[in-house]
Amino acid sequence: MNAATHNSPDVIIVGGGPAGMMCALLLARAGVSVTVLEKHGDFLRDFRGDTVHPSTMEALHELGLLEKFLQRPHEKVASAQIRIAGIDYTIGDLSHLNVAAPFIAMMPQWEFLDFLRDEAEKYPGFTLAMEAEATGFIEEDGRIAGVTMADGRQLRPRLLTLMCDGRGSLVRKRKLLPLCQIGAPMDVFWFHLPKAPHNGEALRGAIDTGRMIVLIDRRTYWQAAFLIPKGSADEVRAKGVGWIKAQVQAAFPELDLGGQGGGGQGGGGQGSGGQGGLSSLDDLFLLRVSLDRLEEWCRPGLLAIGDAAHAMSPIGGIGINLAIQDAVAAANILATPLAQGRNVDDMLHLVQERRLFPTRVIQRGQKAAQDTIIGAVLSGRPITRAPWPVRLLGAVPLLRRIPGRIIGLGVRRESVQSPNAFGAD
Ligand SMILES: Cc1cc2nc3c(=O)[nH]c(=O)nc-3n(C[C@H](O)[C@H](O)[C@H](O)COP(=O)(O)OP(=O)(O)OC[C@H]3O[C@@H](n4cnc5c(N)ncnc54)[C@H](O)[C@@H]3O)c2cc1C
Repeated sequence: MNAATHNSPDVIIVGGGPAGMMCALLLARAGVSVTVLEKHGDFLRDFRGDTVHPSTMEALHELGLLEKFLQRPHEKVASAQIRIAGIDYTIGDLSHLNVAAPFIAMMPQWEFLDFLRDEAEKYPGFTLAMEAEATGFIEEDGRIAGVTMADGRQLRPRLLTLMCDGRGSLVRKRKLLPLCQIGAPMDVFWFHLPKAPHNGEALRGAIDTGRMIVLIDRRTYWQAAFLIPKGSADEVRAKGVGWIKAQVQAAFPELDLGGQGGGGQGGGGQGSGGQGGLSSLDDLFLLRVSLDRLEEWCRPGLLAIGDAAHAMSPIGGIGINLAIQDAVAAANILATPLAQGRNVDDMLHLVQERRLFPTRVIQRGQKAAQDTIIGAVLSGRPITRAPWPVRLLGAVPLLRRIPGRIIGLGVRRESVQSPNAFGAD
């Protein structure tokens, strides 16, 4: 029996990332009482991707929030470019998409999450608990009845525990649902590099023999992602920060990356928004890449979405997008019965049924890119020219609309159908 009290929320969401915050906003807007548990004290830590895609902005547009969202600091990227063996190729064009925002907004994720929190807080059913880490599950009569917390408390929602706690999900740690590994051959070092103020280009990627690097313009500094073979972090660290900086400079000779290595404030991986730089090994933050998915995303009382259900590789920068689309789909299917106080256990599988196809398609694409391009780069095989599909896209501008559509809108785009219980937005 679920011993939830009258004060219990209808839904407990574990994890205040993109999936958790978006789903919380939509459920609270539909009149569901929802508590988000986020283990960190703020949104400014660890790795946070910076990409907000057209499909996410379309959902914000449907909610009447797009204009307000775009008032937050961001850069617009309407095409995807990559430098391979020293030659620049445009491989995706988003500018022709028939949506309110036909571009990727490069926005530090803490800005995006702050925005979702500010909007969710306008609804009376929304509660966000920071520094609140779930550490286990309460199981009663074969049903998940809530979570246990690091401080010993037991929290029981009236209707549903929604796991949005990313690729290190408690569901995986406690082996609550079977996991299917697809595998990723790489990890990423994540660090800041100083940046001359005039280099205003939101995203740069470069692939060469033995190295793959992405630079994200965060206005006052470059956020760098340096791919390394999985498990080789110690080997790369042993080469020192000077070697890493030289690799970046060789890939981007036109950039002034600050010969002295920057101020080193704030650490490389904490997303502090500070100037920072790469001056010691402490400034290197290791991000472990995973590609996998749960075979089942739910069991009575519990549903997993976002990376908790399917950990995404950084390839294509679409994991956040997929997490948001899961949140929209989950709210479309569950918000009304939850708001009516109905048990939704027998509806949870509908969310997986709706979202499995796009997840499979994107993960297959990421795996193909891993096996071909990234595998070749990391094995040190000479990269003398781009693969033919890249050259074709580079040569035929019209074709670039196809990857532009997949990157921008994903597969099976969700539109917001969950109700607003509080009248017009
Ligand atoms: C190196 C790398 C680079 C990437 N780059 C991009 C990119 O540029 N663009 C893109 O779209 N995607 C990118 N991705 C993928 C993207 O990060 C994920 O797909 C996306 O963040 C998933 O969102 P989520 O809300 O499901 O999970 P997460 O963003 O992982 O959020 C999970 C949240 O749950 C919290 N949490 C975890 N455990 C608990 C607990 N026990 N109790 C309470 N809270 C908990 C965490 O603190 C976190 O806030 C990248 C991935 C990697 C590995």
